[in-house]
Amino acid sequence: MNNQQFNCPFCNHEKSCEVKMDRARNTARIQCRVCLEDFQTTTNVLSEPIDVYNDWVDACESAN
Ligand SMILES: [Zn+2]
Repeated sequence: MNNQQFNCPFCNHEKSCEVKMDRARNTARIQCRVCLEDFQTTTNVLSEPIDVYNDWVDACESAN
């Protein structure tokens, strides 16, 4: 489960977004391989890829 893929909130493609966790820097990046939208956020030891994805969706919704 370390290669989870999520639906893109921008282009709505299914499972086109991949999360890369950078545990050393406490950051994570998610990018859609279809529309190339990306998002970077800070993480902690408990963060999972789904949390990064949820942060992205929240950021999208608050931007609208
Ligand atoms: Zn996309």
